[in-house]
Amino acid sequence: MGGSEGRGLALHTKMLLGFLAGAVAGAIAFPLGHATGADGALVQAGWLTALITYVTGPVGQVFLHLLFMLVLPLVFSALVLGVVEIGDPKSLGRIGLKTLGFILSVSALAVLLGLLAVNLFKPGAGIDAGVAEALMQQSAGQAGEIAAKGQQASALAVLMGIVPRNVLAAGVEGNLIGVMFFALMFGVAAAVLRTPGVNAFLAAVQGVYDISIKLIQWVIRLAPYAVAALLFSLIAARGLGALIPLGKFVLVAVGALAVHLFVVFPILVRVFGGMSPLDFFRRAQPAMLTAFSTSSSSATLPTTLKIAEENLGTPRRIGRFVCTLGATANMNGTALFEGVTVLFLAQFFGVELSLAQQLLVLLMCVLGGIGAAGVPGGSLPVIASILVMFGIPAEGIALILGVDRFIDMCRTVVNVTGDLVGTVVVSRGEAPDPPEAPAVEAGQG
Ligand code: ASP
Repeated sequence: MGGSEGRGLALHTKMLLGFLAGAVAGAIAFPLGHATGADGALVQAGWLTALITYVTGPVGQVFLHLLFMLVLPLVFSALVLGVVEIGDPKSLGRIGLKTLGFILSVSALAVLLGLLAVNLFKPGAGIDAGVAEALMQQSAGQAGEIAAKGQQASALAVLMGIVPRNVLAAGVEGNLIGVMFFALMFGVAAAVLRTPGVNAFLAAVQGVYDISIKLIQWVIRLAPYAVAALLFSLIAARGLGALIPLGKFVLVAVGALAVHLFVVFPILVRVFGGMSPLDFFRRAQPAMLTAFSTSSSSATLPTTLKIAEENLGTPRRIGRFVCTLGATANMNGTALFEGVTVLFLAQFFGVELSLAQQLLVLLMCVLGGIGAAGVPGGSLPVIASILVMFGIPAEGIALILGVDRFIDMCRTVVNVTGDLVGTVVVSRGEAPDPPEAPAVEAGQG
């Protein structure tokens, strides 16, 4: 059934080509498809609006829908199977602790990097007041909504949301952490029980997982075209000019993200994972490109799992466990960005934060990386709630909304790559999977 990857170029090369084609075409189309109106505002040409509305927009959106469609069955089946395959409570405890240790320490490192960069380069000082005023007015409405959401989201409410009252409602509302909690509990109980009924159920869950992975193999063949369409729609409609007034902020955020991605991760992969960083990046590339073009760790999860399962050469059970949990709980890029933004806005509004307060910001951002949803802009309400804690006007978020989408693409790459790095590091020293013997077959017959 068309199992081969297809002749010709490898998938990751095709994705890279799609990526470049979309970005370049978008950058060319933006000036061609825009004119300056009488009032000085940019007016989009009819042909470009039609192209985005009827061609590239829908192509990109359908791809996103296909990815999101697979998230719930994958999260449930991957976690149940991951827990059951890890098996005895001792191994589960060890792998769970290693994963938690990785998430907390590497996120803290990421935030520290962000805070250092802002302290060093001070992007929040000396922004032109007129420019700031205009930016704030442009996005005031949206920022007000985010600020309101952030004010509601107390730390306690976030913690309580981890335990869902109704798992179906959690799934419908996109509360993935709630679904994960349920799946983890389910897996632990299944691992303990192993009755014939449980084994039959696990065989079915394995079926759900296998089917979802097969589907993602099909869906991902569309990725090169969809990535091109997504990037084109974004760049052709907005151009890159929006980045200029906040250039220093963008540079500091993206620079710190780049250091984390290209310096910290390779060191971790080499020293703690025993893998060549170049090799790692080559294998991880499809997930990184999907993350960049979707801005969503959740939408990228199917691809991340496929990479962990097929490309990385790590034990399958660990990839399933770490990547699934990591899609919402391990967000290095998001944690870093939260730190940068909070400090940037504090600088902008002239709010002095002492060292102790900055340490508290660090702690909140590490937790914020765990609590933020893996969707585009998922960290904004978290940032709003941290701003409120430190007496910084939450509406200030309006200042950065115009550049958020671009930084979101970059931080999502760091988030997703961090899950794969975590898989490599946690796998070190763990036994390989038994050949062709998924735990679910043990009790059959
Ligand atoms: N878009 C990010 C993600 O899905 C979350 C965020 O930082 O807004 O990983």
